[in-house]
Amino acid sequence: MNFEGQTALVTGAASKRGIGREIARQISQGGGTVIIADINQEMLEDAVKDIDQEKGSAYSAVLDVTSEEKVKQSLDELIGKFSKIDILVNNAGITRPTGVLDISEEEWDLIFDVNMKGTFFVTQHLLPHMKENNYGRIVNLSSVSGKRGGGIFGGSHYSAAKAAVTGFSKAVAREMAPFGITSNTVAPGLIATDITGGMLTDEKKKQLESDIPAKRAGTVEDVANAVAFLATKESSYVTGEEIDINGGSHID
Ligand code: NAD
Repeated sequence: MNFEGQTALVTGAASKRGIGREIARQISQGGGTVIIADINQEMLEDAVKDIDQEKGSAYSAVLDVTSEEKVKQSLDELIGKFSKIDILVNNAGITRPTGVLDISEEEWDLIFDVNMKGTFFVTQHLLPHMKENNYGRIVNLSSVSGKRGGGIFGGSHYSAAKAAVTGFSKAVAREMAPFGITSNTVAPGLIATDITGGMLTDEKKKQLESDIPAKRAGTVEDVANAVAFLATKESSYVTGEEIDINGGSHID
């Protein structure tokens, strides 16, 4: 896909086997400039080297999306440096497999802060810039868990936060359509990444895979392909949409 002359900000894109890194790679391969924003500084450097090896168009930004002050400061700097940011992918996310009876307020807040509030902060601070340019592509990562109530790994806080991301994305789509800005979500099912932090046993993974009609977990490429489409100029009349990427494990 062609991203020549475009700049994209992808949050949570440092993780080595993560969805965000593959999204950044695809945008870079399409000729775009990518800003990889992540809380994990060590992995950030690795991500930039990895993507730069192929195209030389990746930059890093250390960013904790849960801090409004840091988001504002970082976005002011990035807009100053790159003059324009055309694409925002709100990909930073975390999950925990805690049952509803055991979720503490602290853990509830953490899951909401990273998945939902972080998406809100980055979007809110980038929107005035996109409005000024009369152009923007926003893609938010929700989850099948937000649609069917978990059933993979995350707890009810994760399902609730991801459902909130979808509602937020749709409302932004409606408000921002007059300004050439689209807002869409992708809802992945089980994708082979490190988000489960090693807490998903091989046995459980096999069982989950056998329940998926496609009989396999998704790949980061499966997700990034859809995100990349929603990030293109050509997707200009698609907004408020949610694309399921789950091998048939949930069909609306
Ligand atoms: P991952 O754990 O590989 O990557 C997540 C990244 O987010 C990491 O690089 C991490 O450092 C970063 N991050 C965490 N907290 C942050 C913060 N406060 N500020 C900035 N960055 C932060 O996860 P992944 O599997 O690649 O997931 C990417 C997105 O896709 C997430 O939003 C996740 O909820 C969603 N998703 C994943 C799956 C799956 O099965 N892997 C399924 C559905 C949805």
